[in-house]
Amino acid sequence: MRAPADAAERRARPAVVCYPVSTLPQPDMPRLEAARQQMTKLAEHIVPPREALAVPVPAGHFFRIVSIEGPQVGDLNLWNAHDLTERFFSGKTRALHATHVTTGHRLWSTLPHLRPMATITHDTLAWYGWDQDGGGVHDVIGTRCDPYTNRLLSGGEYHHCCHSNLTRALAKTRNLPLAEAEMLVHDVLNVFMCTGFTHDTHQYFMKASPVRPGDYIEFLAEIDLIAGLSACPGGDCSASHSSDAAACHPMKIEIWRPDQAFLAAHIPPPPNAYSRSHGLTATP
Ligand SMILES: [Zn+2]
Repeated sequence: MRAPADAAERRARPAVVCYPVSTLPQPDMPRLEAARQQMTKLAEHIVPPREALAVPVPAGHFFRIVSIEGPQVGDLNLWNAHDLTERFFSGKTRALHATHVTTGHRLWSTLPHLRPMATITHDTLAWYGWDQDGGGVHDVIGTRCDPYTNRLLSGGEYHHCCHSNLTRALAKTRNLPLAEAEMLVHDVLNVFMCTGFTHDTHQYFMKASPVRPGDYIEFLAEIDLIAGLSACPGGDCSASHSSDAAACHPMKIEIWRPDQAFLAAHIPPPPNAYSRSHGLTATP
């Protein structure tokens, strides 16, 4: 296909950030930093390799996802503990912040709520930045490994994909039928995963995670949450996923309680204020 005469001119138009975020309500990071210096650990949960766990995190509390034993990627889902249909909105989080998230970014919930569910308060991998391949850590690009895509591409049945792990975990913690829980599992935050798009074909790539035992990413739960974490069958995601081939390690979820003054002052963000009339006047 021949390019038009003004192709170069058209390509040279300036890139404009889709969502200028200067008007977003900003988290008070100095206050959060002060609070995290005064917190005490409430609970620890171990997520076994190729399995998931879904645990409650009360609003105003912090939770950490910690690397233990060896490099391992985790797939994170978040639900409003009082309404599981309000869940993490990976696509809008990506549109508002970036393809990869770190300290100061927030994890937004689905429409019509669109409010911060969690704020990232610490990330020991923040030093990684962007590598020579354009890769970064903690992406909101990937969806989660799932048995349907695996079936499509390989023809086989694999039951320990993150999608299935999260489905089983949510079903167990909320006593839901498997089919009901599955419909609530959603696109993830790929914790510790190192990903990007290839320069030539713009395909989604992964490479060995730089995470090491002791690294963690920490969040403030803005609202009452159920946090679901799957220790991905891809392990450090250096080679493959959707199989038992990769070396996998457990992960740890820690729940931390800040002091009473911080908890008492924490106000969960209200749901989005849009009228939901969608251009029609209300019917009587
Ligand atoms: Zn996975």
